[in-house]
Amino acid sequence: MSLAEAAIRVEELTRELNEYNYQYYVLAAPTISDYDFDQKLKELEELERQFPQLLDPDSPTQKVGGDITQRFHTVRHRWPMLSLSNTYSEQELRDFDERVRKAIGNDFEYVCELKFDGLSISLTYENGVLKRGVTRGDGIQGDDVTTNVRTIKKIPNRLKTDGFPDLFEIRGEILMHRAAFQRLNNERIENGEMAYANPRNFAAGTIKLQNSAEVARRPLDCFLYFLYSDNRNRLFNTHWDSLQAVKSWGFHVSEHTALCTSIEEVLAFIAKWDEARYNLSYDIDGIVIKVNDYGQQEELGFTAKSPRWAISYKYKAEQVETLFQSVSYQVGRTGAVTPVANLKPVLLAGTTVKRASLHNANEIERLDLREGDTVFVEKGGEIIPKVMGVNLLKRQPDAQPILYPLLCPVCGTPLVRKDGEAVHYCPNEDGCPPQIVGRMQHFIGRKAMDIEGMGDETIETFFKRGLLHNITDIYTLTDKQDELIQLERFGQKSIDNMIAGIEKSKEKPFEKVLFALGIRYVGETVAKKLANHFKTIDALMAASKEEIQSVYEVGERIAESVTEYFAIALHRQQIERLRQYGVQLAIEEKEIQRLGDSLTGKSFVISGVFEQFSREELTALIESHGGKLLSSISGKLDFLVAGDKMGPSKLAKAEKLGIAIISEQELLQLIGS
Ligand code: AMP
Ligand code: ZN
Repeated sequence: MSLAEAAIRVEELTRELNEYNYQYYVLAAPTISDYDFDQKLKELEELERQFPQLLDPDSPTQKVGGDITQRFHTVRHRWPMLSLSNTYSEQELRDFDERVRKAIGNDFEYVCELKFDGLSISLTYENGVLKRGVTRGDGIQGDDVTTNVRTIKKIPNRLKTDGFPDLFEIRGEILMHRAAFQRLNNERIENGEMAYANPRNFAAGTIKLQNSAEVARRPLDCFLYFLYSDNRNRLFNTHWDSLQAVKSWGFHVSEHTALCTSIEEVLAFIAKWDEARYNLSYDIDGIVIKVNDYGQQEELGFTAKSPRWAISYKYKAEQVETLFQSVSYQVGRTGAVTPVANLKPVLLAGTTVKRASLHNANEIERLDLREGDTVFVEKGGEIIPKVMGVNLLKRQPDAQPILYPLLCPVCGTPLVRKDGEAVHYCPNEDGCPPQIVGRMQHFIGRKAMDIEGMGDETIETFFKRGLLHNITDIYTLTDKQDELIQLERFGQKSIDNMIAGIEKSKEKPFEKVLFALGIRYVGETVAKKLANHFKTIDALMAASKEEIQSVYEVGERIAESVTEYFAIALHRQQIERLRQYGVQLAIEEKEIQRLGDSLTGKSFVISGVFEQFSREELTALIESHGGKLLSSISGKLDFLVAGDKMGPSKLAKAEKLGIAIISEQELLQLIGS
């Protein structure tokens, strides 16, 4: 294949894979099998290996720290991870009960459990120590995600009791609680990153991250519900007993589990949780019913796909039909436009729903939404309901399609859409009211300048009154107290409080200020990295895209966004004003925790998995001794710190360039000397 041909194919694959990722993670509606996805990803990897000049840092093969990758070792399951036969109907459940009775008689019990809506995981323990965590994959083999699993606090790394088998496997479901989902997803939206559709997708996306430090930051939980070991049947007679034991070994086992002696009791359990599930802090999508006795389980056996001794009853996702009235287009802080459907109010899962998410223009197109349509609205785990489809039987013959606006609904600027992105943006950053207000709200927020005595509403009021036009105006409020006191609901006390908050914000460290500016893709972590690396805003403003990109784990997309931001004269003026008001635009010397200088002037790349330290720890170690971290291997690099499982192409490249390849031990020696 020629370079030109390869370039075309690489572009094609990149576009397709990005779209599949989007379908999978955001829409939760994949249109391709995992296998086919992997094949395409492998093809792309292979082309990038053959033609390194075509390797884009934004390639789906390179996504680290925030996006998915598929590069994990495949491991065969000792006991295949079968699925469960499932049903939505009471009658089929009674049929299941009949079949069980025919096979094993009338003397048996069922265990009823919640069917957690997450992703299943298989954990292997040897002598009480967690050895391996593997995803279900295709049931026969899955991905080895052990390093990520270790970051989950609810999964013990080492059992503290005894009585467990020397070697056992335990299975369960990894999930994210709704509150954490909401919080982290909002953060992603604020940082201009793709939002996940629901907690399950977020959990699944998280467990497949390459960057375990990021996994650790996202709180996951894990409920365990199956024990396997060679001598299991000698230790326990029943599944129920095994669950009690497993709990005593330190595993998280759901308390909402019941022993039932008849199908009527099972149905009562199902009915109870159909209502009560909304009070749980996480999502379930049904109930799993298992025959309790191990001997009886063996008698019943398996079909090719699932055990005959278990079944899952799935709750219908609550869906209602209602009239679609109009679309509102909301403009966020980053200029991203989100379409929201306004609906004729309707009762759904206990609440009145008036609005539903439409995601973006592609989604409206996919739905083929027309004016006056009757739509199906569904509430899964997510708080905002979704428009799932259109009832075509009720469509008016002359219904007009919904045309996505060409202009910003607020400021009238033509909208833009970047290649390969589904979202439209209003590019009028400094003139579009919701963007200005949003940026100021971001600036004063808890994680940014944390200005006490000021809230989102204050900003909105002040903006409408012409008291604030951009972030720097916040520091002029001190001189506008006469005007402020005229405002309704603004007493001297709250003004004093706010002024004190504004003054205090001038002490916020540089990294917070950098984050507060609201540069697209510069979230908290990136802001910290940039601040630590460049030390002053002047150095950062003077840096080229390449220099910014050379900072460890800062990609091209971020680097481009930063240089674009500072290229705008207005932004530079704002920085000057912030400087005059005394806002921190440099790292205070004492903030850099320096432990030594032995690595000064040396550059490093860290790759692979390490025994003694995490990658984050190695990073800190290098930086605190004056070393610099680079993101990729080039002729300028001094050392490659190589761990286990490092990519062969990286290794080859480093060898070719004659770069010193060292182990973590050798790094320590380097620091020591
Ligand atoms: P399905 O994917 O619909 O075939 O359902 C089977 C899946 O349900 C299993 O692979 C598990 O991941 C999941 N599951 C959730 N909760 C439980 C539970 N309590 N017992 C067994 N499987 C469960
Ligand atoms: Zn606008």
